[in-house]
Amino acid sequence: MSPERTVTWRLLNLELGLEEPESVLRERACRELGLEPEELRGFRFARKTLDARDRRRGRAPRFVVHTDLILAAGCETPRLARAVRSGRVIAAPAAGSLEADSVHDSLAGGGRAVVVGCGPAGVFAALPLALAGLRVTLVERGSRLERRSRDLVRFHRTRVPDPESNLLFGEGGAGTYSDGKLATRVDDALEVPILEELVAAGAPAEILYDSRAHIGTDRLHTLLPRLRGRLEACGVEFGWNARFEGLVADEGGGARRVRAVTTSVGELPCDVLVLATGHSARDTWAALVEQGLPIEAKPFQLGVRVEHPQELIDEARYGSDATLRRLGAASYNLVCKAGEGLAAAHSFCMCPGGRIVASVNEPGLLCTNGMSNSAHSSAWANAAIVTTFGPREFGGGPLAGVEFQRRLEERFFEAGGGDYTAPVQRVGDFLDARASEGDLRTSYPFGVLPARIDELLGEDARRILARALRRFDRHLPGFAGPRGLLVGVETRSSGPVRVRRERATGRVEGFRNLLWVGEGAGFAGGIMSAALDGARGALSLLRAGVRG
Ligand SMILES: Cc1cc2nc3c(=O)[nH]c(=O)nc-3n(C[C@H](O)[C@H](O)[C@H](O)COP(=O)(O)OP(=O)(O)OC[C@H]3O[C@@H](n4cnc5c(N)ncnc54)[C@H](O)[C@@H]3O)c2cc1C
Repeated sequence: MSPERTVTWRLLNLELGLEEPESVLRERACRELGLEPEELRGFRFARKTLDARDRRRGRAPRFVVHTDLILAAGCETPRLARAVRSGRVIAAPAAGSLEADSVHDSLAGGGRAVVVGCGPAGVFAALPLALAGLRVTLVERGSRLERRSRDLVRFHRTRVPDPESNLLFGEGGAGTYSDGKLATRVDDALEVPILEELVAAGAPAEILYDSRAHIGTDRLHTLLPRLRGRLEACGVEFGWNARFEGLVADEGGGARRVRAVTTSVGELPCDVLVLATGHSARDTWAALVEQGLPIEAKPFQLGVRVEHPQELIDEARYGSDATLRRLGAASYNLVCKAGEGLAAAHSFCMCPGGRIVASVNEPGLLCTNGMSNSAHSSAWANAAIVTTFGPREFGGGPLAGVEFQRRLEERFFEAGGGDYTAPVQRVGDFLDARASEGDLRTSYPFGVLPARIDELLGEDARRILARALRRFDRHLPGFAGPRGLLVGVETRSSGPVRVRRERATGRVEGFRNLLWVGEGAGFAGGIMSAALDGARGALSLLRAGVRG
C-alpha cells in the first residue's frame, strides 16, 4: 500500500496564555480552521515566542505560537481556504536533511575525510559526510568530555590552564560549558534536522520550537557522549588529543589539493579536509596564514561582562507579576543603536541564573564568558556588553585583530594580579571613572580585584559602553546602579578573522577539497550557526565534489 499523501500547513500567531497548557492549542487550531481533530495526520509546534511588548499598555503577556497541521492531501475547509488567502496560514517550509540528496561522482565511491575540531561545526560537518559513505576521522586537540572536565577542575585548583584541554578546547567545543542557548534567527531548512539530532541525544523537545530554549551545561554533558555514540555508529572515528598542525597539499595545475594533514600524533591522509577549529585556535590560524590560506581580518566584538543579582533582573523585567515570575529567571536582550558619534553596543550571551567563567586556553591571558545550568538556578545574572571593533581600530594584516585581542587579554590578566583573578568595577564607578570599594562579590570562581576597567578598555570602547550602560539602565532600572558589576575582559564573543570561500561550493578559495567552517572561519557566532555552517558546507562539498 502506498503511503497517504499529506500536506503541511503552518497556522501563524496563535495566542496562548502564560498559564494555559500547550495542549489547548491543537483544539484551538482545529476550531479556527474548521477541522475535526481526527482529520489531523500530525500536529506540532513550529515556533513559540514570549510577547510581553504591550505590558505597559495593559495587555497581558502571552506566548505567540506557530503550529504545523499535517492533513491528507486534498483535505480542505472554507475556513482553511480563507486563512490561506489572508496569509494567516502558509505552506510549512520543507525541513532539510543531513543526508545528501546527491553526491558528486568524485566522492560517490567513498573516500577519506578528516574533520578537525569537535565543536558544533565539526560534528555537524562529520555527520553528513559519514552518512554519504565517506570514512571520517574527527581530530580534536582537546580531550573527551570526561577527561576534559577533570582538566578544568585542575585548572580551578592550580590556576594553571592546560593549553590543549580547557574551557574552549575539547569534546563539544567552546559551548560545552555554556548556557546552551540555541537561538539562530535564521530560517534554514537544516535547523530542524540538527535540532532533531540534539533531541535524539537527549535535549528537551522544546528546542524544536521554543525561541527561549536552552540546554544548559548539565544537560549538554549527558547529550554529548550520546552524540559521540551516534557519530561512531555512522562510522566516524575520533582522534582525541591530536592537534592539527598543517596541510600537505599537491601544488600546481590550478587549485591545490590537500593530500594529508600533519598532526601532533602523526600524518593522516585525506581526500577531503574540513577545518572547524573555532575562534580561539590562534596557533592554527598562524600556521594556516603561513601556508598561504586566504585569511583576512574581520570585525569582532569587544567589551565586558556585566553581572547583577538575578532578583534585580527579575524585578526589573517582571515586577510583582506572579504569572511572569513563574517563567523562571528573567533574561534580557538589550541594544543601543549607534548615535552621538559613537558605535552601537548590545548585550550578548545573557546567562540567567548563571555564572561567569574564565574562558581561556593560553597562559597569561584573561577572557570572560558566561554559563548556566538548565534550571537557571544560581543567584546571578550575567551578560556580555559588547561593541564591534574592526580593522580601522586595530590595523591591517590578517592577524591584526588577534594581536589586539591578545594585548587586551594580557592587560586584564595583569590588572587582576596574574593568577586569573579578574578585574572588577561597579557600573556606576565605570561611568564616573573611579575605582570601586566595598563588597564586590561575583559568581566568578577565581575571585575579583577592584580595577579601573574604564581605563583598561581604552577610550573608544569606554565611551561606547558607557553610553550603552546608561541607556540600558532606562530599560532595566538598577542596571547601572551599585549592584551592577563589570568583570572583564570579553574578547571572544566572535572571531577576528575570516577565510575567503567560494560562494557556490563553500570550498576555501584556491583549494579543491578543503572546507573551513564555523566560528574560526568567520561564518558563525553561536552553537546553532556553527552547526548549520558545518552541515551546509559538508552537503555543498558532497554535491560539488573535489575536482576542478
Ligand atoms: C563559555 C561560553 C559560553 C557560550 N554560550 C553560548 C550559548 O549559550 N549559545 C550559543 O549559541 N553560543 C555560545 N557560545 C559560543 C559557541 O560555543 C561557539 O559559537 C561555538 O561553539 C562555535 O562552534 P565551532 O564548532 O565553530 O567552534 P568550537 O566550538 O570552538 O570548536 C572548535 C574545536 O576545534 C578544536 N581545535 C581547534 N584547533 C584545533 C587543532 N589545531 N587541532 C585539532 N582540534 C582543534 C578545539 O579544541 C574545539 O574543540 C559560548 C561560548 C563560550 C566559550
